[in-house]
Amino acid sequence: MVRKLEDSVECLPGVGPKKTIALNKLGINTIEDLLTYYPFRYDNLAAKSLSEISEQEKVTIKGTVASEPTLIRFGRKKNRLNFRLIVENQVILVTFFNQPYLKEKVQLGNDIAIYGRYNIKRQSFTGMKIIPAGQSNDFKGVYRASKEIKANQIEKLIKLAFDEYEYLLNDIVPLSLRNKYRLETRKQMIHDMHFPQNKKQADLARRSAIFEEFFRFQIGLQFLKKEDKKNSGLSIKYDNEKLKKFIESLPFELTNAQKHVVNEICFNLRQPEKMNRLLQGDVGSGKTIVAAIAMYAVVTAGYQAALMVPTEILAQQHAEKLAKLFMPLGINVGLMTSTTTSKVVQKRELLKQLKNNTIQIVVGTHALIQNEVEFAKLGLVITDEQHRFGVNQRKLLREKGTNPDVLAMTATPIPRTLAITSYGEMDVSIINELPSGRKAIDTKWIRKKQLNEALSFIRQQLDEGAQAYVVSPLIEESEMMDLQNAEEVFEKLKKYFGEQYRIGLLHGKLKPAEKENIMKKFVKHEYDILVSTTVIEVGVDVPNASVMMILDADRFGLAQLHQLRGRVGRGSRKSYCFLVADPTGDYGKERMKTMVDTLDGFVIAQRDLELRGPGDVLGTAQAGLPEFKVGDPVRDLKILQIAQQEAARIINDPNLKEKDENFELLKFLKRKINWNNNLD
Ligand code: ADP
Ligand code: MG
Repeated sequence: MVRKLEDSVECLPGVGPKKTIALNKLGINTIEDLLTYYPFRYDNLAAKSLSEISEQEKVTIKGTVASEPTLIRFGRKKNRLNFRLIVENQVILVTFFNQPYLKEKVQLGNDIAIYGRYNIKRQSFTGMKIIPAGQSNDFKGVYRASKEIKANQIEKLIKLAFDEYEYLLNDIVPLSLRNKYRLETRKQMIHDMHFPQNKKQADLARRSAIFEEFFRFQIGLQFLKKEDKKNSGLSIKYDNEKLKKFIESLPFELTNAQKHVVNEICFNLRQPEKMNRLLQGDVGSGKTIVAAIAMYAVVTAGYQAALMVPTEILAQQHAEKLAKLFMPLGINVGLMTSTTTSKVVQKRELLKQLKNNTIQIVVGTHALIQNEVEFAKLGLVITDEQHRFGVNQRKLLREKGTNPDVLAMTATPIPRTLAITSYGEMDVSIINELPSGRKAIDTKWIRKKQLNEALSFIRQQLDEGAQAYVVSPLIEESEMMDLQNAEEVFEKLKKYFGEQYRIGLLHGKLKPAEKENIMKKFVKHEYDILVSTTVIEVGVDVPNASVMMILDADRFGLAQLHQLRGRVGRGSRKSYCFLVADPTGDYGKERMKTMVDTLDGFVIAQRDLELRGPGDVLGTAQAGLPEFKVGDPVRDLKILQIAQQEAARIINDPNLKEKDENFELLKFLKRKINWNNNLD
């Protein structure tokens, strides 16, 4: 059998169907996934002397067991194991929670090493594990594991995979670049990411891994960008007179920012080059109307336009608005979601109308990218909340036409440098202005003990006919036990508000149809309060909802808080946002203050960047940036920029294919990006 890094993990000895499923759940499908499943942190298990330990530091201590261990049970499943340990002539009380089986391993008079957390003041130690005598390496990576597969099993599999597949680890980063930036070979890097001797080695490997990860990403982007330029797009000769009239007929005047963006888009439409544009605009900045204008322009030239959105309810809202706008002009708007297409006749009719150009504008969810969907003349593809879609989904929609123009919209303000680097293949437009007359959202940061006051304020608002959102963060695993989960909040609010107020509960575990249903009920004011996890974050419009309360607000990224807050302030009511949080450090307080101080998403994004400490990856995924395994586009922006420059230089090098050192890189492009034809 010929081995490949793309082999399924099932190829490893000892990995059967069960383990395969467990690994898949962690996102590990192939050998390569496994080899790049890096530790999320390293523990230094070398024992420290007590005087070197700082408060609450995680360390290993060594000592002699000085009392018989006692096991104390409390609650049904909870217990703790206590014993005394003599360390450097001091007596320390050691406690292990919920690991009763360790009792056997702790014998009076024996010397043992324990890893855990030291509380200096109380001279106590909370144990996490007992380190087996004779363990070879003190510096160990810690892997994210699951109920189905444990960290040490993962580690063993990685070792196995490394030994068997090591010879296939080739360098995509060319030698000259590795020399220039003093980067390790891929083989060395992967080895040291998993099995470093010490921190220095791990740090070196991490630096190489970050570069490599960004470089791979950028090589693809830069290649796409170059190809995009080659492919001629459509030159859409829209009817300028009609377009002007349409814009004049709108019930409001466009903001200057909107006008500017409309001009940019119209210019692109006319040009024979393909448009590939990212439109950033804060929540409520009026992106939808810009999209509508672009779609209208395309239709006046005899083309069709498609708008893809991440949820069914959004699709419905958009379709209704657009239909109102376009029906009087004799333009037909279609809606394509899994619900609308569940009725066979209706679906067949819709497909036919798209294919014969009876429907000129279609709004839909990812149902739009099904195979059967065919367009007569697709000229423009728009995605809303574009980061919710994978690159592939966007590509599939694009391929429904012959080189249609593409507009991707996002409400997540990403600082410009970062946007350009992360969406290297796109042009970026920004709407940095809200329509005038927008009512400010009154934001208040309150402590948990003030919760009751806030709740009684909400009650008043409800009595006046308003609706409210209450957001509670999800419990991820047992570690976050102190977080209140949505169900708990739901029950508490039911008790607090009583029968006369109707409360709905929305969370990620519900099936899509159930979610839609609850959301619809909230839209129709069949609920007064919607308790929710962050699933309401995306663009839903309930103008009557004017109060937002976010519990444990300090657990969220600022970008996410901003998105959540953007759910209110959409109607004629004065809107309020309560951030309930008791942050301890200055950092947390600053973050809450930022939210109170400004409603400007770009200012918030900038502050977020400034406030983030190194190693804090919170919010990267939330900011709609591509997700990386080791690199953090914010923390490692410099490396990302260098990777981008180098990748662009290499891709545009006329001798790209002649240089030996590019051999693996070209192979990688062919394999991963699958544009074989273009490369030959
Ligand atoms: P978003 O950018 O969050 O998608 P929307 O497109 O939903 O924002 O716009 C929010 C609201 O503002 C809509 O009700 C829309 O009709 C309105 N709107 C858009 N542009 C303007 C404008 N120039 N003046 C006044 N209202 C506007
Ligand atoms: Mg929108």
